[in-house]
Amino acid sequence: MASVGRLFVISGPGGVGKSTIVEALRTHSSFYFSVSATTRAPRNGEKDGVSYHFIDDGKFSDLVKAGEFLEHAEFAGAHYGTLRQPVFDALQLGKNVILEIEIQGARQVKKAMPDAVMVFIAPPSREDLLRRLEGRGTDDPARIRARLELAEEELAAMGEFDHVLVNHRVEEIVDALVSLAARNE
Ligand code: 5GP
Repeated sequence: MASVGRLFVISGPGGVGKSTIVEALRTHSSFYFSVSATTRAPRNGEKDGVSYHFIDDGKFSDLVKAGEFLEHAEFAGAHYGTLRQPVFDALQLGKNVILEIEIQGARQVKKAMPDAVMVFIAPPSREDLLRRLEGRGTDDPARIRARLELAEEELAAMGEFDHVLVNHRVEEIVDALVSLAARNE
């Protein structure tokens, strides 16, 4: 029988480049990528069921009440959550599962699943992170300001993680995650 897979939680401040890293990791078929549910509106190019399951507030709270989420959190005015069942199914099949989530959710996963490998993606510097957030151009100014404030709080959580990887180059982080997964096999 295949052994159970490991759960990798990739977290860090909004704007640090987590989603770019996860996108680059997709070439490694050994990982299963959890698709989160969110109440925020799709951005250009995002596909329902691929980038996220885009749902409304009512549906989100139904899923919360039904206990369908492994974790869920509010981030910059929208709700985000990881559906429990697909993650457990993939782990049972022996897959290494990647969750790309913000800090409050990461804390909930660590509590529920203490064996999860907790990875914090850190920016090369605070200035670098601020530049990325301001340069993104996909959000309105109020949302960018909210994200800047959150990012400050999120940076303070670094010490709670098993591994801190500094995002100088996406390829470096991808290599580090692939070797982490190999170490855990
Ligand atoms: P964005 O709206 O830019 O796609 O994501 C905003 C933040 O929500 C990012 O930090 C991202 O990692 C986080 N996020 C995405 N999916 C989930 C989820 O299922 N749960 C939690 N807690 N955070 C998530």
